[in-house]
Amino acid sequence: MQTGLVQTMNETNRTRGWIDGERAIVFQRCETCAHSWYFWRTFCPNCGASEPESLKASGSGQVYALSMVHRPPSQELRAHVPYLIVLVDADEGFRLMAHGESSLTIGDRVQARFVEFGPRLMPFFGRTSVSD
Ligand SMILES: [Zn+2]
Repeated sequence: MQTGLVQTMNETNRTRGWIDGERAIVFQRCETCAHSWYFWRTFCPNCGASEPESLKASGSGQVYALSMVHRPPSQELRAHVPYLIVLVDADEGFRLMAHGESSLTIGDRVQARFVEFGPRLMPFFGRTSVSD
């Protein structure tokens, strides 16, 4: 069990996502200005309001950018190269980095599923429709 005020506060407010081993992408949204974002914070990065809500995303979005990884960042990922890293603009208004099908291109509509990658479960995006 974790101790310490900061960790305790985060745990009580937190919706569990893939970082916790759940098949979900969690984001936060500010109830004051409606800004949404991906990395956990205790306040809104746009307006500074405290206690943002924590929500599960639909997992659908659009490819913003992509990069094929040929050199593994660690020994345990050596078996996975080459693999595609994608930046996805989620329909809920935040952007996240994840893995995706190697055939994806910028602008494709995508949907997340979850795959084992090295030691953990990670979001993996597949195409739902091709860009115009
Ligand atoms: Zn705000």
